[in-house]
Amino acid sequence: MRVLLVEDDRMIGQAVQTALRQDGYAVDWMRDAESADTALTTANFDLVLLDLGLPGRDGVSLLHAMRGRHDATPVLIVTARDEVHDRIGGLDAGADDYLVKPFDLDELGARMRALLRRSAGRGEAVFEHRGVRIDPATREVTRGGESITLSPREFAVLEALVLRPGAVLSRAQLEDRLYGWGESVESNAVEVYIHGLRRKLGHDFVQNVRGVGYFVPRDESQGTG
Ligand code: CA
Repeated sequence: MRVLLVEDDRMIGQAVQTALRQDGYAVDWMRDAESADTALTTANFDLVLLDLGLPGRDGVSLLHAMRGRHDATPVLIVTARDEVHDRIGGLDAGADDYLVKPFDLDELGARMRALLRRSAGRGEAVFEHRGVRIDPATREVTRGGESITLSPREFAVLEALVLRPGAVLSRAQLEDRLYGWGESVESNAVEVYIHGLRRKLGHDFVQNVRGVGYFVPRDESQGTG
């Protein structure tokens, strides 16, 4: 999952970026609304963490611009305690949720997962797919009660594919979810993670459409859900 962090406070930004990267998110950090706007029109993000009080143009203005061009990326706004009007303004401008500073990083993680589920049209917190159970909160993967150890990036690839069974993601789309700008990408990185997933979950768990990309087949036992 790729997250755009918009935050001008160096300490908060650093703490959030570090925590999210440890959780396997690709994070791009922008310090002002202009750079964030450019980033949003250049790459695809799964979620935006938006501080409202920014130097120059504020967060609400960025949000208006996003929703004005029908960019439906989930937005979680982050505001100071006394900015109640800003929170209302942010929600009315199209934000999906908000968090008040100072916030707990675990709560941030839980709210992000809830928004990501909702944007994928899924209500359940734990995914079961073809006998494999995936818990995004604890990052635990099990099959038949047995724990399967995945690297953070293998987990990120698995999560991206399982959120939308049947949807084919290209190598570039998967790389987008795994790496922020400035992070070097080995040319065969995605193939390596797919290989690892197949070795651990079974060759058929992840399938490919030659020259197009990768997908996990829909689970027949779960209907079309
Ligand atoms: Ca700020």
